[in-house]
Amino acid sequence: MGKIIAIANQKGGVGKTTTCVNIAASIAATKRNVLVIDLDPQGNATMGSGVDKYEVAHSAYDLLIDELPLDQVVQVETTGGYHLIAANSDVTAAEVKLMEYFARETRLRSALADYKDNYDYIFIDCPPSLNMLTVNAMTAADSVLIPMQCEYYALEGLTALLDTISKLASVVNSGLKIEGILRTMYDPRNRLCSDVSDQLKKHFGEKVYRTIIPRNIRLAEAPSFSTPVMYYDKNSTGAKAYLALAAEILRQEEKLE
Ligand code: ADP
Ligand code: MG
Repeated sequence: MGKIIAIANQKGGVGKTTTCVNIAASIAATKRNVLVIDLDPQGNATMGSGVDKYEVAHSAYDLLIDELPLDQVVQVETTGGYHLIAANSDVTAAEVKLMEYFARETRLRSALADYKDNYDYIFIDCPPSLNMLTVNAMTAADSVLIPMQCEYYALEGLTALLDTISKLASVVNSGLKIEGILRTMYDPRNRLCSDVSDQLKKHFGEKVYRTIIPRNIRLAEAPSFSTPVMYYDKNSTGAKAYLALAAEILRQEEKLE
C-alpha cells in the first residue's frame, strides 16, 4: 500500500525541497514506485526534477481545482526516476480558490484516493507556510517529515507546526503521525548546531532520524543541473546522506510490517 509523507516546516530555507527531491530519488533507485507532489508555487521541486515549470501543461492546480484525474496531470519523465505533479505560480491561485470550497481540506486526499496504491511512496513538498495547501498535504498524508536546520531559531515555530498536526489528527486525519525529524545543513564544527541537535533529541527522542544531512555544496549545486544530487555527484557527502536516510526510512517500514 502506498505511503504518503508530507514534508513540512513553515520556515523557508530549511531543506524541505532538497529533502523531498533527494529522498524520492534515493527510494526510486531501489526500484520502488515513487511520486513527488510539488505544492509550493515556487516550483523548486519541479525544476530540480528536470521539469520546466514554465512549460508544463498541467500542475497541482488541475488536481486540486479542476479535479482532473492524476494520470492526466502527472509527469512521468523526471531526472530523479520518479513521477511528479508539478507546481508553478498557478498553484498560488489554487490556494486562493481552495478557500471557496466546502471540504476544502480534503481535496488532495480525494484526488489521491484512486492512485495511492500505484505507488510505494508519495512525497509532498509543502510551501513555507501553514496555509491551505499545507493543510491539504497533511490531510492527505499518513505522516509528516519535518526538516529542521540546527540553528538558533529552529525550535521557534515548531509548536505551531505540531499544533496544526495534532489538530488535523483530531479533526480530519486521525491516523496522522510524525514520520521523523530530520537535521539538515548540519555543521559539526558549529557549537550551536550540536546544542540544537541535543535539544531535539531530548524533546523528540526516537522521532529524530539517526541520519544527519550535512551542509554540502553539491546539494546546493544539483538543482542548477536540474537533478537530484545522486545523479550529479554520487560520491558527495550529500548524496550519501540522503541514501542513508532512504535506507533508514525503508528499515522503519519493514519493522512495522
Ligand atoms: P526549503 O524547501 O525548506 O525552502 P531548500 O531545500 O530549498 O529549502 O533549501 C534552501 C537552500 O539551501 C537551497 O538553496 C538549497 O540548495 C540549500 N540547501 C539545502 N540543503 C542543503 C545542505 N544540506 N547543504 C547545503 N545547502 C543546502
Ligand atoms: Mg522549498
